Amino acid sequence: MTGQALVLFSGGQDSATCLAWALDRFERVETIGFDYGQRHKVELTCRAVFRNRIVAAFPHWAAKLGEDHTLPLEALGAVSDTALTRDTAIAMGANGLPTTFVPGRNLIFVTFAAALAYRRGLKHLVVGVCETDYSGYPDCRDDTLKALQVALNLGMESRFVVHTPLMWRDKAATWALAESLGGAALVEAVLEDTHSCYLGDRSQRHAWGYGCGTCPACELRRKGWEAWRAAG
Ligand code: ZN
Repeated sequence: MTGQALVLFSGGQDSATCLAWALDRFERVETIGFDYGQRHKVELTCRAVFRNRIVAAFPHWAAKLGEDHTLPLEALGAVSDTALTRDTAIAMGANGLPTTFVPGRNLIFVTFAAALAYRRGLKHLVVGVCETDYSGYPDCRDDTLKALQVALNLGMESRFVVHTPLMWRDKAATWALAESLGGAALVEAVLEDTHSCYLGDRSQRHAWGYGCGTCPACELRRKGWEAWRAAG
């Protein structure tokens, strides 16, 4: 596929796999990350490390990898009172949403990404959201992203295409996708240089990567890894 893309790249497993997916398809790929006062900056640190590894280990992708943009979004942290931005326990809230839910986060991220993509002439937006592994996040739903694509194109008089390659893939399938895109070297890069743990723990290296091993994000990552290994 030709064209130029902007990948919403947080430094986690999903968005890292999406970055590889985009590099496999598009002529040029830029990345964007957001600093919204998340309790742990580990993910943001992982972004540069993962990008550097892509450049070093995948020369055919390195030639396509363009600029990285980091946008400060403290305002999002300021209006959010969730487990990711405050020292609140990670649990299920009374409204059925986990306390890790930052209201409207993906709506805001994709909208800012589109504004940047507009300025830089990038048609394709790539977002690593997923409906399959139940997270309870309504802004990860397929309908939400499709509605947002329509709203952005109307509001900016443009023809953005919002890609969500992981929408119907579970975590095991996401590992399989990484392997099909970049083989063992990409799987190793995702294991070593991405971060999922809500607690920001990188003191323990498990078979499935770094993390506390018990938070919901670690549990999801571990189960996905084990299911993928068992299937292979
Ligand atoms: Zn964890």
